[in-house]
Amino acid sequence: MGYMVCVGYCCGCNSLMHFNPHYVPSIRVSRKDGKWVPDPEGHREPICEACVAKGNEARAKAGMPPIPVHPEAYSESEEG
Ligand SMILES: [Zn+2]
Repeated sequence: MGYMVCVGYCCGCNSLMHFNPHYVPSIRVSRKDGKWVPDPEGHREPICEACVAKGNEARAKAGMPPIPVHPEAYSESEEG
């Protein structure tokens, strides 16, 4: 049995983060003028805890349900 940790950049704030690829929240984006922009036809990129929290604050103000975050979203993944 082993563990896997993915390291990558948040597509919301570009901070380096580690995450579990099976559970991390993600959004569909595409690259435009060197930046990630939301795109329903784009590919999925991970977002960090801080960006999810900010997004959930905005969603709450808009009366929308929060984006759920799995307890293992930002931890290592057990493989094996
Ligand atoms: Zn972020």
